[in-house]
Amino acid sequence: MTQIGIVGGGFGGLYTALHLSRLPWRQRPEVVLLERNDRFVFSPLLYEVVTEELPEWEVAPEYMDLLRGTNVLFVQSEVTAVETDSQHLRLADGRRLNWDYLVLATGCETPLAVPGAREYALPFRTLADARCLHQKLTELEQSQREKIRVCIVGGGASGIELACKLADRLGERGRVRILDRNRSLLMRGLPANREAAVKALDQRNVWRDLGTQVIEVRPDEIVLDYGQGTDTLPTDLVLWTVGNRAPQLLQDLDLPKVGDRLHIEPTLRVAGQPTVFALGDGATDNTGQPATAQVAIQQAQYCAWNLWRAIAGQPLVDFRYVPLGEFLSLGKGVASLTTWGNLHGAGAWADVVRRGAYLFRMPTPPHRARVGWTWLTALGSPRAGA
Ligand SMILES: Cc1cc2nc3c(=O)[nH]c(=O)nc-3n(C[C@H](O)[C@H](O)[C@H](O)COP(=O)(O)OP(=O)(O)OC[C@H]3O[C@@H](n4cnc5c(N)ncnc54)[C@H](O)[C@@H]3O)c2cc1C
Repeated sequence: MTQIGIVGGGFGGLYTALHLSRLPWRQRPEVVLLERNDRFVFSPLLYEVVTEELPEWEVAPEYMDLLRGTNVLFVQSEVTAVETDSQHLRLADGRRLNWDYLVLATGCETPLAVPGAREYALPFRTLADARCLHQKLTELEQSQREKIRVCIVGGGASGIELACKLADRLGERGRVRILDRNRSLLMRGLPANREAAVKALDQRNVWRDLGTQVIEVRPDEIVLDYGQGTDTLPTDLVLWTVGNRAPQLLQDLDLPKVGDRLHIEPTLRVAGQPTVFALGDGATDNTGQPATAQVAIQQAQYCAWNLWRAIAGQPLVDFRYVPLGEFLSLGKGVASLTTWGNLHGAGAWADVVRRGAYLFRMPTPPHRARVGWTWLTALGSPRAGA
C-alpha cells in the first residue's frame, strides 16, 4: 500500500490529510499525519482564547475528534529527522516510519533573536503561548498594581489584533504600547484595514512607538533604539509577534531552499523532488505569496489533488492563489474587513462576518456544526455580547 507521510497538522498538513481522505481512490493509500501536539489551532481566533470570548475546544479541537471517521492515522510525536534517500522519518519516541510520498507542512516559528527575548518575552503563535499569556494576565490582574504595562513588539496584523484585545481585556488598568521599527503600522496590510486599525488603537489609547527598534528585553524593562539614541521603558509584560523562521527540521534538510524556506514548484512539489511536497509558511515558490492560513488552506486542496495525480501517474496541476480579502480583529466583538473587490467595512457586524467566514473555514463539518450551533444558541445570552 502507498504510504503518505504528512509532517505538521496545521492548516497545510491537516487540511491536506482531510482532502486526501475525501478523494475517490482506486487503491486507498495509508495517510499518516505526524504532529507534536494533540490539538489543531485555528490561529486567526487564538486571541479570543485570551479574552475568553471563545472556549478552547472551539478554537483548538483535538485531532482525534477531527479525524474520527476518516482513514487518516494520527501519530502524536515530534519528527526529528527526514531521511530523503531511504524515505524514512525519525520520531522523537524512537520510531522510524517509511514514506512513499512526503508532505512537509511544519509551519514556522517566532524567532526570539534579540538579547533577553527568549527569557523575558512571550511569543504568540501556539495554544501553549495563548494559555501562558492568559495566565500571566490573570496574575497581573490579581496583583496590587495600579496599572498593567504591556509592550507588544510588532505592528503587523498580530501585534495590532493583540493590542486591541488586550486593551479591551485590561480596561482602565491597561497601558498597552506597540513598538515597531517601521514608520507605519500594518506594512503588508490593505489601506482601508490600516485606517480602521489606527482608529481602533486610538479609541483604546494604545500608544505606538514607530521607527523604534527593540534591542534588549530585561525582566522588568525593555531597551529601545529610537534612531537618535536609546532608552529604557519599564514594563510588566513583553509580547513578541515579529518574524517567521523555518524550524530546525527544515533548516537541517538538504533540499532546495529560498532563504530558510523550502523551494517549491508551482505544483507544490519541492524543486526537483518527485515524491516530496511542501506547503504553508515553511515553503515558498518565490513569488511573494504571503505566509497566511488563507494561502495554506488553498494549497492543501491542490496538494491533495497532486498527490492523487502523482500516484495515479497523471500530470500535476499548478497551484493558483485567489486572495479573498483580509480580516482584522479590532477588540472584543469588533473587526475590520476588506474583501475581494475592495469592499470594506468595520464594526460589530464585520466581526459577525469574520466569525462566519472562519466558521466556514473550520476543518471538518462536525466541528463546524458544533461550533456553529454553540454560537447560534449563545445569541442573546451574555456571552454573545462579551
Ligand atoms: C495569532 C495568529 C493569528 C493569525 N491570523 C491569521 C489570519 O487572520 N488569517 C490568515 O490567513 N493567517 C493568519 N495567521 C497565519 C496562519 O496561522 C499561518 O499562516 C498558518 O498557520 C500556516 O499554516 P502551516 O500549515 O504552514 O503552519 P501551522 O498552521 O503553524 O502548522 C504547523 C504544524 O506543524 C507542527 N510541527 C512543526 N514541526 C513539527 C515537527 N518537527 N514534528 C511534528 N509536528 C511539527 C506544529 O506543531 C504545527 O501544528 C495567524 C497566525 C497567528 C500566529
